[in-house]
Amino acid sequence: MGHTDLSKAAELIAGAERAVALTGAGVSAESGIATFRDADGLWDRFDPEEVATAGGWLAFLIRKPWEGMEFLRGLRDAFAEASPNEAHAALASLEAEGHLGAVITQNVDGLHRLAGNREVVELHGSFGRRRCSSCGCRERVSREGFCEELDTMIAKLGSYMVHHPAHLLRRCECGGLFRADVVMFGEPVQGLGSALEHAEGCDVMLVCGTSSVVYPAAELPERAKARGAALIEVNPQRTELSARCDVHLAGAAGEVLPELVEAVRRASVAA
Ligand code: NAD
Ligand code: ZN
Repeated sequence: MGHTDLSKAAELIAGAERAVALTGAGVSAESGIATFRDADGLWDRFDPEEVATAGGWLAFLIRKPWEGMEFLRGLRDAFAEASPNEAHAALASLEAEGHLGAVITQNVDGLHRLAGNREVVELHGSFGRRRCSSCGCRERVSREGFCEELDTMIAKLGSYMVHHPAHLLRRCECGGLFRADVVMFGEPVQGLGSALEHAEGCDVMLVCGTSSVVYPAAELPERAKARGAALIEVNPQRTELSARCDVHLAGAAGEVLPELVEAVRRASVAA
């Protein structure tokens, strides 16, 4: 990452009327959560088409309890035990210091909120909530609660007595079954209207740790750019979006973003 690139990015953010961030799995990589592209990640061992589709995940758990237990243990190890890293902390500082209007994220780990960001659009939902499949009501789930829930499900699957989703899931007061409030394959994303408003209302978009191939998230920088916003990308690799970015900061988000925060502070004082 060149010094001039960092200064240019910092000046764009410091001078922005309204900057927003779009984040993906790469921002959580340094919290130990594997991205889709990482070898040995959860998604390398399990086929998302089988374990993370709206219609298929319960059938998978019930049909293959042994693999189901492995998958749930993987979820617990990856998500429930992860904590925010330097990249999350940097984005929280940018918001607290008035330089970031919102974070739009594709991540389901809840780490942006945990790090202190307040305006967060979780396009793919969050393991930090459960949702009733019947009445649609939502409840917060603590990290400990999430771990306990996974452990209970693992124990039940281990008994080989699970033949119906009702044996596995908690019940809502309405009688419906609760599930994690995450968006599975084949389900519509959450908060798209608000994400589009942020994308179309910003003059700088900071795109971090996303391969920019999953739609509709990948469309947000395009919408922002079409309205004249500058795009800054933070990613160790070049992506589908890189060629259209004003600045590409090559490096890990946990290293680049804290440097960017410092540079924004310097640029704000100088202005
Ligand atoms: P992706 O796996 O397709 O791409 C990750 C990107 O992050 C890649 O471009 C990679 O080069 C980059 N990256 C890797 N390490 C990085 C680092 N340290 N700093 C900055 N960038 C880094 O992820 P995506 O674009 O978010 O889309 C995939 C889907 O995966 C999303 O739908 C998301 O919901 C889901 N997912 C979420 C999580 C999570 O919640 N943490 C984890 C895995 C997958
Ligand atoms: Zn209900």
